[in-house]
Amino acid sequence: MNHPIKDRFDRRIDYLRISITDKCNLKCLYCRPPKKIKYFAEDQVLKDGEIVKIVQIVRRHGLRKVRITGGEPLVRKNITDLIASIKRTGIRDLSLTTNGIKLSKQARALKEAGLDRVNISLDTLKSDKYKMITRGGDIRLVWKSIEEAERAGLTPIKINMVPIRGINDDEVLDFASLTIKNNFHIRFIEFMPATCSGLWKKDTCIKSSDILKSISTLGKLEQFEFRGKGPSRNYRIKGASGVIGVISPLSDHFCNYCNRLRLTANGKIRPCLFSKKEVDIMTALRSGASDEELEQLFLHAIEIKPQGHSLNEENASSSHIDTMSKIGG
Ligand code: SAM
Repeated sequence: MNHPIKDRFDRRIDYLRISITDKCNLKCLYCRPPKKIKYFAEDQVLKDGEIVKIVQIVRRHGLRKVRITGGEPLVRKNITDLIASIKRTGIRDLSLTTNGIKLSKQARALKEAGLDRVNISLDTLKSDKYKMITRGGDIRLVWKSIEEAERAGLTPIKINMVPIRGINDDEVLDFASLTIKNNFHIRFIEFMPATCSGLWKKDTCIKSSDILKSISTLGKLEQFEFRGKGPSRNYRIKGASGVIGVISPLSDHFCNYCNRLRLTANGKIRPCLFSKKEVDIMTALRSGASDEELEQLFLHAIEIKPQGHSLNEENASSSHIDTMSKIGG
């Protein structure tokens, strides 16, 4: 059994983003509030076997793609075993989003366990600014991880960059230029309004169209892949090795193509990042629900997936979504 499933709006749902922890070893200023946040207690977080069970259930309905995220997924113990168990369920495309601080030592083992590729978050190329944005991180560890990930074959390496006016917008061209010689996929993600000390404002969020306009000064931008496979609109600077992608959740949202569900670290299926509606699968799992009952919960999550979110640059507010590290970015 492996039937693809469509929601009420004819979208094929085949992608699950799993947050495996809400803990993080960085405190990025646009992702988390400065104050100490209360983490889920250990017993509130899904165990490896529970995550694998949920993946198996969803697999029966055509799940093809899983992304592991967090928090910082690489702070979770025995992550390699979890990756191997998820891969064994038959997931074709298994990826992970990380800040790269701990990746260099684990890259090879993760690849051997079945991880296909990684996205590494990096919002500046300057070490002082990196320390400021991440509230203490060491950029050298990230570059070491990028090298090790390439060596291990966790490719193509995608680098997530969130341009924020007044913080790192002066580096957009430097990031784009990295694609000229390197086969990196640089993805510029529009700054979304998460609870993060009021940093999000209409004018701190830079629209993808402005990013592309600025990058086009480096050379002709050739569009080579347009939607269908994900939220990123992809381009290549003529003659360059790598790829530039823009992800525009605010200025040009991709709800019509949205193929994803999220599973939070505390066991809730969240059909849309911007909607607070969630389906509690952990309680059912822990009270001995049958596979059929779990399957019904999963189908219900698809049933309540909204057609779209109404968020745009005009109506967004700084508290529109909770801390990203809690939901799983
Ligand atoms: N710790 C991992 C990392 O740093 O990549 C995974 C979790 S992090 C929440 C996942 C992604 O969400 C990162 O690429 C980060 O840049 C992005 N993100 C966090 N807050 C965001 C915001 N307010 N707007 C846009 N992207 C955001």
